[in-house]
Amino acid sequence: MTRKTPDFFYTPVILSRMKLYNSLTQIKEEFKPISEGKVTMYHCGPTVYDYIHIGNLRSFFMGDILRRTFEFLGHEVKQVMNITDIGHLVSDGDEGNDKMTKALKRHNMEITLENMLKIAEFYADAFKEDLKNLNILTPHVMPKASQHIREDIELVTKLEEKGYTYRTSDGIYFDTSKMKDYGKLGGIQREEGQGRIEENTEKKHPADFALWKFDEKNGWPSPWGQGFPGWHIECSGMSMKYLGETIDIHTGGKDLKPVHHNNEIAQSECATGKQFVRYWLHGEFLNINGEKLSKSKGGNITLRTLEEKGFSPLALRYLYLQAHYRSPMNFSWEILKGAENALKRVYRTIRELKEKTKEKTLGENNSFVERFKEALEDDFNTAEALAVLHTLLKSNIPNEEKLGTALFFDRVLGLQFNTINEEKEELELPEEMKQLLKERAQAREAKNWETSDVLRTKAEEMGYSIADVNGEQIVKKKNT
Ligand code: AMP
Ligand code: ZN
Repeated sequence: MTRKTPDFFYTPVILSRMKLYNSLTQIKEEFKPISEGKVTMYHCGPTVYDYIHIGNLRSFFMGDILRRTFEFLGHEVKQVMNITDIGHLVSDGDEGNDKMTKALKRHNMEITLENMLKIAEFYADAFKEDLKNLNILTPHVMPKASQHIREDIELVTKLEEKGYTYRTSDGIYFDTSKMKDYGKLGGIQREEGQGRIEENTEKKHPADFALWKFDEKNGWPSPWGQGFPGWHIECSGMSMKYLGETIDIHTGGKDLKPVHHNNEIAQSECATGKQFVRYWLHGEFLNINGEKLSKSKGGNITLRTLEEKGFSPLALRYLYLQAHYRSPMNFSWEILKGAENALKRVYRTIRELKEKTKEKTLGENNSFVERFKEALEDDFNTAEALAVLHTLLKSNIPNEEKLGTALFFDRVLGLQFNTINEEKEELELPEEMKQLLKERAQAREAKNWETSDVLRTKAEEMGYSIADVNGEQIVKKKNT
């Protein structure tokens, strides 16, 4: 059966009631875009040195919710997410070893620019696949840092001309003491230092950071010598190129706020003399045993790990939805199982609704839509939006409205209600039946057709029919 999508009854509405928590002002503010009805958004993307973990994915999921919400509310969104595909040599927080170099070593590859880009390409593809599997809409532009060296050089040149830079033996640095309000995001103090700073005794100040790092062997030519752009400058360069000197929203996980984002602000605002970003949004962590999930702490759980354990990526999406993006979220396999079970129950209800409303025209229920919108307008409260979905599914409103509204909500939730097939119901089978199927599969593998048939008859007595399709046993509950 072909089902009408909800597009035909969708009327976009531009709302000015959107409130979001701005890390810059540290309050929940009304969102006022630069251009009415349009939103420009930049998300700090991954460094593609390995498969990304489900902690990283939570922060990219947050970007997806922002985009879907704005679009749901009728805004036109332009979304950019960078891919850091070069060794910044100045690793996170300006300390430690370079991640891309580590990746090359892991793969036993010689450290060359060419190999670096090769590895990066591989993991960038894997990253894009992860986004698709989590039903994260592909950002409109996904620029690679390696293809924007010119923009970085232009920015550093501007900063140099304005007197914000100085040279050390290993690179060109930004002089934070020249910027009056350096560290305004989250209010870090220049005098305190940042605690995670690379050791460079030539730096004038602990908070100063590299704009360009020399590397005689690899890297790109520049007016200052061959090398690499600093990590922070890449994001400024790409954000400005695709979205302009001032943008509406910039996001990232909260660990990026003190150093990376303050440095992005510093170099961008000093170069242009304009505000760089109007609203900074930071996502809380996905934790495991109370600690931030990270590779170094042994929490290297990727979407592949989930799939190996038999979980659907959408179960993870459902889990993410259950918490507000500014609330820490704890991960365990039991918690994920709980989310998957809850999602299965939702799917079952949607399937039943599809079955009951075949050939009927769907509609939306204004009161539920209003409640859903209110939840999202309150700083993207997905936990509340999910609660509205559950109340809707339990309500007594007509089935056509219930289904239509749920499909409408799914524009933001992204749980793929549209593709749930009413004919192919996934059953929650009793243990006895699961065991029977296992035995029947073994019998068929051994070409023991007699046992296979006996087991089919037994299943029928238990109230199930089995059809063998392409080597798979398709089970249906028989109508009673
Ligand atoms: P990276 O590739 O390390 O720069 O990280 C990419 C993104 O993932 C950044 O926005 C980080 O803030 C974010 N991130 C890293 N670990 C976590 C975590 N455990 N929970 C949520 N976000 C995270
Ligand atoms: Zn960034």
